Amino acid sequence: MPSSPAHDVRPAPSVDHARRIEELGRIILAYSEVTEKLQQSHDQLNRTVQILQQELGEKNRQLERRNRLAALGEMAAGLAHEIRNPLGGIQLYASLLAGDVADRPDSLRVVHKITAGVKRLEALVGQVLQFSREIGANLGDADLAELVAQSVELAARTLEDCGVQCRIDGPDELPARVDSLLIGQLVLNLVQNAAEAMEPGGVVTVRYRRVGAQCVLCVRDTGPGIPADVLDKVFNPFFTTKETGTGLGLAIVHRIVEAHNGTITARNAEGGGAEFEIVI
Ligand code: ADP
Repeated sequence: MPSSPAHDVRPAPSVDHARRIEELGRIILAYSEVTEKLQQSHDQLNRTVQILQQELGEKNRQLERRNRLAALGEMAAGLAHEIRNPLGGIQLYASLLAGDVADRPDSLRVVHKITAGVKRLEALVGQVLQFSREIGANLGDADLAELVAQSVELAARTLEDCGVQCRIDGPDELPARVDSLLIGQLVLNLVQNAAEAMEPGGVVTVRYRRVGAQCVLCVRDTGPGIPADVLDKVFNPFFTTKETGTGLGLAIVHRIVEAHNGTITARNAEGGGAEFEIVI
């Protein structure tokens, strides 16, 4: 039997009731705001943890590399010392022999070949010893513009032999706190590598500038660039693609940058050529 409307009497919501509902609404709203904020800070935390994990991974890789290099360096230094002593002897006997055969051009030519070979080995031994020693930067007030100019001057012979040009792009003076000898050697190594990578007519550009508290030095060439599979190996000691290369030039450059607490990046420049950027 349908109920009569007379029995369907619901009490009209009292003012009190309505206020409570409104209050509840406000509480729910506040609650969802808090939940959303919590979610946001949770996401933020997650992101931070991810970044920290990446950084930790990178630091572990660096540490591993450093330990590996230290072991390799120790072995190389031992070998270099063993080689250095007999080399001195060979050099001495070769010069005595040169005196004895001074009137026999054919024999003299052979002796000169021995001397040239000994010189190359001595340079290699020197590089190995430098690489295996802990490189400490002796920081002092220097002018980066002057250091670059001096290094390019020292590379003049190589640049000429390779038939390439070197351009310098930077202010007339750029005061920096660096180890002058080490940074000079770094620029020289990079310019020589660039020259050797290019065909005659190529151009190597050394740019330097100040960015905030740091100095940025960039050596760029118009050579073939660095193949992708070579790019992540160029700083490894003894890695070389050259017939008579030692593979120590860039390993030493890397050490020098580390000793200045700086960074170095090798990349292929837009429009071709290799580019090495140092920030110290
Ligand atoms: P080395 O000059 O004795 O080979 P380095 O450590 O100086 O040793 O260089 C390692 C390798 O990196 C080179 O053999 C070459 O393959 C590559 N490389 C270095 N500089 C350049 C450059 N400017 N362009 C192309 N490849 C380069």
